[in-house]
Amino acid sequence: MQYFPMFFNLNNKPCLVVGGGDIAARKVSLLFRAKARVTVISPELCESLQRRLNAGEIQHINKLFEIADVINYVVIIAATDNQKINRLVSDIAHQRNIPINVVDQPSLCSFIVPSIIDRAPVQVAVSTGGASPILARLLRARLETWIPAAYGKLAILMEEFRSKVKTHFIDPDKRRYFWESVVQGPIAEMVFSGKEESARDALRKAVGLGEKTMPGRGEVYLVGAGPGDPDLLTFRALRLLQQADVIVYDRLVSEKILDLARRDADLVYVGKARDKHTLPQEDINQMLARIAKKGKRVLRLKGGDPFIFGRGGEEIETLMEEGVPFQIVPGITAASGAASYAGIPLTHRDYAQSVLFVTGHLKDDSMNLNWTALIQPRQTLVVYMGLLGAKTLCQHLIEHGMSPQMPIALVQQATTSQQKILVSSLKCMPTLIDANEIKPPTLIIVGEVVALHKKLAWFSPTH
Ligand code: SAH
Repeated sequence: MQYFPMFFNLNNKPCLVVGGGDIAARKVSLLFRAKARVTVISPELCESLQRRLNAGEIQHINKLFEIADVINYVVIIAATDNQKINRLVSDIAHQRNIPINVVDQPSLCSFIVPSIIDRAPVQVAVSTGGASPILARLLRARLETWIPAAYGKLAILMEEFRSKVKTHFIDPDKRRYFWESVVQGPIAEMVFSGKEESARDALRKAVGLGEKTMPGRGEVYLVGAGPGDPDLLTFRALRLLQQADVIVYDRLVSEKILDLARRDADLVYVGKARDKHTLPQEDINQMLARIAKKGKRVLRLKGGDPFIFGRGGEEIETLMEEGVPFQIVPGITAASGAASYAGIPLTHRDYAQSVLFVTGHLKDDSMNLNWTALIQPRQTLVVYMGLLGAKTLCQHLIEHGMSPQMPIALVQQATTSQQKILVSSLKCMPTLIDANEIKPPTLIIVGEVVALHKKLAWFSPTH
């Protein structure tokens, strides 16, 4: 081990920062977060340090650094662009055994500053021993996705109950199981979704039950998986994917996303290809409630956002009726995903002030839509499930008064490596559809904004 990791209590301790530029300011911010008493030595101060000085947050010695300036500091950081001064600060600090960090010069340091994930009171520090700050930053970004922002709140809540749990759970093993169930179970989830009071009540009750085995409590997570690219999942979706016992998914959810599930989770496919639902919706609703009632954590994974043409509402109605706890995690809906990856802004100050999402799903082979609302000027129209009815759609829009020249785009398998886009006019699109093999899922975008695709397209899928 090249460096020994420590967490240093700097509360109200005198610390010195040599240098007054932006880098020094960043170090001052860090020290300030640790409630240190910071003195800055520098003949000049950048704007943010000047602001701190005016606010009385730091002390300032307005001059170049000299050996005599080193008094009883507990930590010194040198962040000047003057190599001589940096070396001088380092030498004197080493002589006096004061921990010293010289920014970007590991050879002059007695300690290095790690990349920090701050979820106070939870702190995670990452270091590569100075070998590669970029790698440390990358690791930090990965860890950020693993450690929800509310972990700090959870730690505070657990601290509150710590001694109580110690007296109620004498057996250390049982105590450990108890805390594991808190951290991985519904109580933690309540904290993460902002229901702190319910979490406190549930924790109080659970502690009250003592060492008797606690009955498991199942729940359902209704999660939006986004349009396809796994990178577009939310942090919460990813975390729940890695903790759910059972994952119920349908056709729109890509394999790459399922790969992110916990290795030993049960995966249940419930279909949802057009007109050949593997399971009728009613059965899916009941199934979710049934599994959760067995004490399992069920993750219902849906393409895009569960509340946009996703029947999310119906599924949670059943859960509500059955008294099964649940939470809903929004996802990036296909319209946002397809629009971004196709370089077609859905609204634009010059072309569209509103955007309308409709379903083009054919009922009895006809499209039952409010055409007057659809053809409004300066509006973008997004049609979900519209591939089969695409030609009828073009025809009806023209019949109801939209210009035959209105641009229209068909975005296929948006955001994935298979993404393909056809751009044409309402008049010509039907011919283009006939001439191409089109793969679902496909989203249709109609409106002036579509013309911007030519200029703004940026995503080149790698097949
Ligand atoms: N809840 C989903 C929509 C489900 S309806 C969401 O919010 O995105 C299914 C329709 O969504 C498909 O018929 C298609 O029109 C659209 N869709 C979903 N994913 C898509 C993708 N990657 N590319 C293009 N269209 C997509």
